[in-house]
Amino acid sequence: MATIDPQWIVSLKGKDYPTWPGILDAATKAGLRVLKTTLIQNPEGSNGNLAIVMATAIFEDGREFTDIGDAGPGNCSPQIASAACRMASTRAKGRVLRDALNIGQTMWEELPDDEKMGANGAAHGPRVVPAPAAEPKAAAKGADLAVRHGPVCQICSAPLPANVYRLAMTEFGSGLCIEHGKERRKQQREQLYKEQDERLAAEREAAAV
Ligand SMILES: [Zn+2]
Repeated sequence: MATIDPQWIVSLKGKDYPTWPGILDAATKAGLRVLKTTLIQNPEGSNGNLAIVMATAIFEDGREFTDIGDAGPGNCSPQIASAACRMASTRAKGRVLRDALNIGQTMWEELPDDEKMGANGAAHGPRVVPAPAAEPKAAAKGADLAVRHGPVCQICSAPLPANVYRLAMTEFGSGLCIEHGKERRKQQREQLYKEQDERLAAEREAAAV
């Protein structure tokens, strides 16, 4: 089994969960060359708003792995359900790399939110081992991989403190700095308003016929 750097382990109720950055880090060290995702199902009312994403990982030695991840109202908080595609993508990538690295333990980001905030973790959330300050180092290999030592904002690449990273993963399913988290929240709110407006318009139209 591949070794996950302890800085990327979240402990909750006596169990250790590897996080996505740790799995990606271990996979890169194990020779990951390509990691790509395909949206299999767009979340819509007709499919229970379930997003399904397929991830494929290819390693230096030619080994190839494929798996899927899903996210929807049944396994996400309402905040994350609005970002179902991103969450499904993170879960798919985590599953395919766990498979490739022979990591049996569920990835932290795969857990349903109610489990993450379960009994012991409810008051303060899980303990995240803080990442030591390290110089960001871009990975040279893997076209679509930007691997650094420590979690970074997916938009501006600013290093994220462990608590900011944990909250962003819980709310958005991806690492975002405080500034870009605000932006993402605003976008989600606007999208929600837009959908409500469209629904109301459609209902009015139906009522008028
Ligand atoms: Zn940012």
